[in-house]
Amino acid sequence: MNETYKVVIAGSGPAGLTAAIYASRANLSPLVVEGEPSSTGDQPGGQLMLTTDVENYPGFVDGIMGPDLMMAFREQAARFGTEFVTEKVSRVDLSVRPFGIWVGDPEADDPTVHTEALIVATGARSLTLDLPNEARLLGHGVSTCATCDGFFFRDKKLGVVGGGDSALEEAIFLTKFAPDVKVIHRRKSLRASKIMQDRAMKNPKISFQWDSVVKDVLGDQSVSGVRLQDVLTGQEEDLAVEGLFVAIGHEPNTDLFKGLLDMDDAGYIVTHDGTRTSVDGVFAAGDVQDHVYRQAVTAAGSGCMAAIDVERWLEAQAP
Ligand code: NAP
Repeated sequence: MNETYKVVIAGSGPAGLTAAIYASRANLSPLVVEGEPSSTGDQPGGQLMLTTDVENYPGFVDGIMGPDLMMAFREQAARFGTEFVTEKVSRVDLSVRPFGIWVGDPEADDPTVHTEALIVATGARSLTLDLPNEARLLGHGVSTCATCDGFFFRDKKLGVVGGGDSALEEAIFLTKFAPDVKVIHRRKSLRASKIMQDRAMKNPKISFQWDSVVKDVLGDQSVSGVRLQDVLTGQEEDLAVEGLFVAIGHEPNTDLFKGLLDMDDAGYIVTHDGTRTSVDGVFAAGDVQDHVYRQAVTAAGSGCMAAIDVERWLEAQAP
């Protein structure tokens, strides 16, 4: 790693890697701090690493697997000289320029690198139900990623919590392995897009438990069931499942920037005039600043915007 970069990009989903492609082609020699392997969407490549078929990314007539798409983004960025470090940003100092960026030990006296400009593209991560037994059994029957873990649940009866596109996508994917997948949703109508609803409804291996919330996850060493509560009657019943996939949405990965960058009530970074943030020289792209569209193609588009904004901003700083 160099000591000072023109631009550091935190995050390596569609936004971060598109910013890297544009910044490296503009000879800005970016460093991408791409994150660390994990079983959530907070990992190198971002949330698409947890997705199977991506059918709505333009240019792929027959669709493409999420991880394959992200590998192609990464190789394209590397081809133009982007540098990568497979760790997380652990601390930032945005009070003076060049900004200080810590990678690894956040207590280290000196930043790992400095940078003239920073693009924050740290994305968003899966929400969980916040139940003690859910956390205890995570990796032992509880999962937030069907693509990562579905294979381990062959021939098992499964539950999926949520009523959005993620929940239905996970449920449909899981039917490749499991004969009986119950979607547990707290209302009677789904939030998911019509096409996903149609696919899930037509799938004979998927059934729905409406107006129900998960009160507890049952099981000692592994999941044996869930305790459900009917939100209309208050009545509780146990449902036997051997795996529980939680797909109830996401929150932005912005803890690092709290108090440093302006954010909205949900913690998403506020941008203005393209991808500018409240600190001059810091730009934000992708799901970390977008809770409306949250698509790979919109994230990639805003990554492109951030790189162009950085390029113009750096030119304007030149004496
Ligand atoms: P989402 O659209 O926010 O849906 C979250 C679901 O979880 C909602 O049905 C919500 O219920 C439920 N939920 C939230 N908190 C809950 C809790 N504590 N307990 C029980 N249920 C809870 O999130 P998403 O499904 O992750 O999708 C996010 C975005 O990505 C959407 O724009 C979606 O279209 C997009 N996406 C697209 C695809 C695709 O096109 N293939 C795939 C995945 C995601 P309520 O409905 O009652 O609020």
